[in-house]
Amino acid sequence: MKTYSFDDLKNKVCVITGGGGVIGKALVKGIATTGAKIAILDLFKDLADKAATEICAEVTGATVIGVEANVLEKESLLKAKAEVNERLGSIDILINCAGGNSPKATTQVEMMEKADLANLEKTFFGLQLEGFQKVFDLNFLGTVLPTIVFATDMIEREKGVILNISSMNAFRPLTKIPAYSAAKASINNLTEWLAVHLAKMNIRVNAIAPGFFLTTQNKFLLIDENTGEFTPRGQKVMNGTPMGRFGDPEELCGTVLYLLSDLSAFVTGVVIPIDGGFNAYSGV
Ligand code: NAD
Repeated sequence: MKTYSFDDLKNKVCVITGGGGVIGKALVKGIATTGAKIAILDLFKDLADKAATEICAEVTGATVIGVEANVLEKESLLKAKAEVNERLGSIDILINCAGGNSPKATTQVEMMEKADLANLEKTFFGLQLEGFQKVFDLNFLGTVLPTIVFATDMIEREKGVILNISSMNAFRPLTKIPAYSAAKASINNLTEWLAVHLAKMNIRVNAIAPGFFLTTQNKFLLIDENTGEFTPRGQKVMNGTPMGRFGDPEELCGTVLYLLSDLSAFVTGVVIPIDGGFNAYSGV
């Protein structure tokens, strides 16, 4: 009888962009427990190195290295790929984790009202195109470009796995963040498109859509730093999450390991919400 495990990930070479961030680090820690060899790529080399050192100290026998790379510059990615190939070998797995929002693409009000006509700055009409550009570049092109660079190892061997990071915003846009929502929706679409394009090359392309996880980027929006209570937005998130709590980044690992391993060998083009039921709940 066949027994099931994540053993096929042992010694696989995995690249994760934005791996020095909160979610990236949690994923690397989980993946390192399988014996996969991981390169943490980050715009900030010190973040990547610090994460690698921490995880190697925590996970017995882990092979994790830090590499500097900008997901928006092809030259920088090619340099990083050469380093990963030399130090770890040919790349089997790519996780496109670099991403985020910009205040320049965030409205101050949730829904525009007549009173806002006097102060359009607070609405969609006050947003700067530069903010939209930045958010689309980082989330969309920042997924396209590393895929072009790192998946070349996979097409040569006709095997590989790509995992993109979407968001709840991709299914239904959250108020205030139109660029981030649309950029993450583009990740869902790209995931499906690439899954089809690469299916006959035996390269699977999937995504996870995390719900609400308390991280440095969003904590100030969800928790009042003076009282420690939920902000009105934080309370709305809680009301919309049937499980009644925020997620812990570590809780992403089970789904990620499943999508990376051969356990999901016939799964491609899916976006799996990890959200305590947020996406399923109508609010009533
Ligand atoms: P984070 O800000 O902690 O981590 C992002 C990392 O990406 C940082 O280490 C940063 O240095 C790096 N980075 C930024 N620009 C880069 C570039 N040009 N090249 C290379 N690296 C770059 O964010 P996070 O909360 O860990 O989010 C990780 C991913 O998860 C993002 O795609 C984000 O959109 C997505 N996500 C986060 C949440 C959440 O609740 N935090 C929810 C859904 C989706």
